[in-house]
Amino acid sequence: MTRVATDILVVGGGAAGLSAALAASARAKVTVVDDNPLLGGQIWRAEMGKFNSPAAKGLVDAVNSGEIRVINNAQVFAAAARNTLLAETAEGRSEIEFEKLIIATGARERFLPFPGWTLPNVFGVGGLQALVKGGVPVAGKRVVVAGTGPLLLAVADYLRSKRASVVAIAEQTSASRLGGFAASLFRSPSKLVQAAALRAGLRGVPYSTDCWVSSAHGEKALEQVELKRKGRTSTIDCDILACGFNLVPNVELAVPLGCEITDGCVVVDKFQKTSIANVFCAGEPTGVAGVDSSLVEGRIAGLAAAGDQDGARSLFAKRDRARRFGEALNRAFALRDELKALADDDTIVCRCEDVAYGRLTEFENFRDAKLQTRCGMGPCQGRICGAATEFLFGWKPGSVRPPIFPVKMENL
Ligand SMILES: Cc1cc2nc3c(=O)[nH]c(=O)nc-3n(C[C@H](O)[C@H](O)[C@H](O)COP(=O)(O)OP(=O)(O)OC[C@H]3O[C@@H](n4cnc5c(N)ncnc54)[C@H](O)[C@@H]3O)c2cc1C
Repeated sequence: MTRVATDILVVGGGAAGLSAALAASARAKVTVVDDNPLLGGQIWRAEMGKFNSPAAKGLVDAVNSGEIRVINNAQVFAAAARNTLLAETAEGRSEIEFEKLIIATGARERFLPFPGWTLPNVFGVGGLQALVKGGVPVAGKRVVVAGTGPLLLAVADYLRSKRASVVAIAEQTSASRLGGFAASLFRSPSKLVQAAALRAGLRGVPYSTDCWVSSAHGEKALEQVELKRKGRTSTIDCDILACGFNLVPNVELAVPLGCEITDGCVVVDKFQKTSIANVFCAGEPTGVAGVDSSLVEGRIAGLAAAGDQDGARSLFAKRDRARRFGEALNRAFALRDELKALADDDTIVCRCEDVAYGRLTEFENFRDAKLQTRCGMGPCQGRICGAATEFLFGWKPGSVRPPIFPVKMENL
């Protein structure tokens, strides 16, 4: 076991965690812990060890310059005491004692069950992108990208750059909502330029709004998907389906620490401080609002945690603008009710414990379903089916108990 003591501990090495660490490091001893081999988080995940964004490389290099202690490949799984967290590393257990904590644990994809979603070669949109960045080849593969949100376009464009053949993009939101969102981008010219570049890069790829995957089919692996649009069903042959329905904030560390949570997000004040005095939170756990919001929230949290309140205050207006973009994003890509009717009785909802939709309809809440069926009690601890059942049945997610990730017995 190793022991580390630090003034400020940042959990999460994505946009929010990196900018928090850098901002705090001018005044305090900072440690960053992240469960990936390299810093960068979801958006800047290095591709085979190389960063393709100069801005990301600059931030990662600055954090790696030696002033800040960086612990990679370490997953924080529990609190040992009020100011001590436990992380599992390749070498075993690490105990990290801190004065102040900044939670920057990001978000994950939401998956919704439909017949065939558990077939091999059905992936999350961001999950597939991560695999390809890790070296999985997609050249020549026919890919359908489906679900909702700007991530569909970003990933479709990326897959095309890897010579995949993107045969369809199915966006569940309506054309009118999407149009309203596009119009709102005139207030953020840089986003407008990004969106235009993505659309240009995807010229020739069929893109449908009001459209979603109703089922996936194949003998041993995916062969076809059925798309539904305005009451009509069409079938497309494909090798891969990348499908995701927005993001879910990762609040699993904040909950057992006692931080107040509302509507699935960590509640913070203007200085990104949570309801627990020495715990701050930045980025997607406070609400999904995109990379600019994560960056500025991280900076505010870092400055405030290090005692530079004036520096933090000077960024409030910038953060409010970034959050307004997030609110527009969430309105535009809100999930439609028809998606609640995709699963049939045999469709697996909890894939860790093989619990089907029909079995879950007997229960009134997640806790009862959990006790009777083991739904949400497998290795992912409800991270997938919890978000799905919240949408399908309106169930509140269950409590979070340590360890928040499965760990080796000897590290407990
Ligand atoms: C799968 C996925 C792919 C995405 N791809 C894109 C994209 O291509 N383009 C785009 O614009 N946006 C993308 N996004 C959205 C993007 O993540 C946000 O816009 C923004 O970058 C989030 O920054 P963050 O720092 O808040 O979170 P993240 O970037 O998610 O960083 C959080 C970090 O904390 C780590 N972590 C979480 N819990 C623990 C723990 N207990 N112990 C140790 N480490 C932990 C995570 O592994 C991660 O590295 C993606 C999101 C997801 C979920």
